[in-house]
This record gives sequence, C-alpha cells and structure tokens, in this order.
Amino acid sequence: MSDRLLSVQGRIFDIQRFSTHDGPGIRTLVFLKGCPLRCRWCCNPESQSYEIQQMTQGGKTRTVGRDVTVGEVLAEVLRDRPYYSRSGGGVTLSGGESLGQPDFATALLAMCLKNGVNTAIETTGFAELDVIDRFLPLLDHVLMDIKHMDSRKHEQFTTRPNERILHNARHIAEHADHLIIRVPVIPTFNDTEAEIGDIAAFAASLPNVRELHLLPYHRMGRDKYTGLGRPYTLEEITPPSAEQMQRLLRVVESKGLTAHLGG
Ligand code: SF4
Repeated sequence: MSDRLLSVQGRIFDIQRFSTHDGPGIRTLVFLKGCPLRCRWCCNPESQSYEIQQMTQGGKTRTVGRDVTVGEVLAEVLRDRPYYSRSGGGVTLSGGESLGQPDFATALLAMCLKNGVNTAIETTGFAELDVIDRFLPLLDHVLMDIKHMDSRKHEQFTTRPNERILHNARHIAEHADHLIIRVPVIPTFNDTEAEIGDIAAFAASLPNVRELHLLPYHRMGRDKYTGLGRPYTLEEITPPSAEQMQRLLRVVESKGLTAHLGG
C-alpha cells in the first residue's frame, strides 16, 4: 500500500522549508500547481495554471512547475522532522489548490501521517464535496479562505461565485479537527468594516470555528505578472495601513472570534 502511494505523481512549483505563518510551529510548505480561481491580487500567479510555464524575473527565465512523486516530496518533508516535533509543526499543502490534485495530495498527506508528521492544508474550499471528504480524515488543520460574502463581487475579483465555497466551509467546519478562516484584505474589494464584519459573522456561525486571520494585501507578486506576460490589474491600489488593520481586527473580535494579523 505504502509503496503504491509513494509512486503517485503530482505537479508542484515549489517547496519552502521553515515557514512559521501557515499553520502551527515550523512547517514545510508544498506548493501544488493549478487553481480554479483567478484572484486579482494573487501573489503566486505562477500557481494558477496547471501547465508547466516559463516565467521571467530579474532578467532570468525559469521553468515553473515540475512533476514529482509522493516519495520524492516526502523525502524532502522528512528532512525537518526534528524541527516539527520540537515546535509542533509539520507539512502544509498550499498552492494553487491542492484539492485539484486529490490523488497526489491525499497520498502525500497519508504518508506524512504515517511518518508522524502533522498535516495542514491552505484551501479555497472550491471543489466537489466528495473530493473534500477524501482530504478531511488526513488533516490536522485546515486554513480556509473566505474572501467576500457578496457572490457577485466575489466573482468579479476571483472569477468564481462564492456559493459553493460557503457551503463547503460549513461542511468542513462540521468535520475538520481544527479550522481557521483566513481573509485576504484587499482595498477596493473587501476592506470596509462592513465587509469584514459580514465575513466574521459568517465565520462565527460555523461550528467549532474560533479564530480568524486577516492577511493584508501586499504587492510582492506584482513582477511575476510581467514575467508571465500578464497585466497586473490592481496597479492603482496600495496596502491597507496599520491603523486600518487594527480597526478591522477589532471588528472581527466584536463577532466573538479571536483575531490575528497574518503575513
Ligand atoms: S485562491 Fe489563492 S492561489 Fe488561487 S488564485 Fe486566489 S490567491 Fe491565487
């Protein structure tokens, strides 16, 4: 069984060690290729297409995306096992959207668990429920984005409406061991107190959800759009101020949740 899982293939574009922002403790992040959304602010636009691409940055062109086996990624993840056990960390699948590669992602999660590695996923929650149900028994932590409560505005900025995401959030909350809601705070999209308040009220209505993280917009991925030959459509906006983020954190707390500022 394990041998079969180790040979399952998937497509990733990066592995980052020593992360402290994407789940508890020190973690290894595995970034899977392909995402069903196209968020305008996405700081990893090279994650969106499942195809292997060329991206130019700093005058250098590199290939983004590679096919790997679960065994190859597991070997990389296990290098930092001593750090995980000391810090309460583990592995986090990110992207892109790992729900889009369920065979590879669930095989990798199962092998991590088998080797005593704590597991987490960062997800949009945009998938069929039967796919999500394959993941839930394999996850110690779920970090799920809720970006806007207004479906039309959600679609305008991400290309997808939000009904399925909201429905799946409730299902995940009912079945996950530990769910944290995360909200990217994007000026002109969802940065008013009313908009964040609506998302926080929804999160507070989910069973077992106690924590919400606000992730302020930043422009660090902007050059990658040029490098992929794509326009960056948020050129005009600037990151929210520290004062505004403090106000929004208080709005979240007013809904009965613990609020954190994420990076
Ligand atoms: S869901 Fe995440 S990875 Fe996908 S487009 Fe949006 S920001 Fe990028």
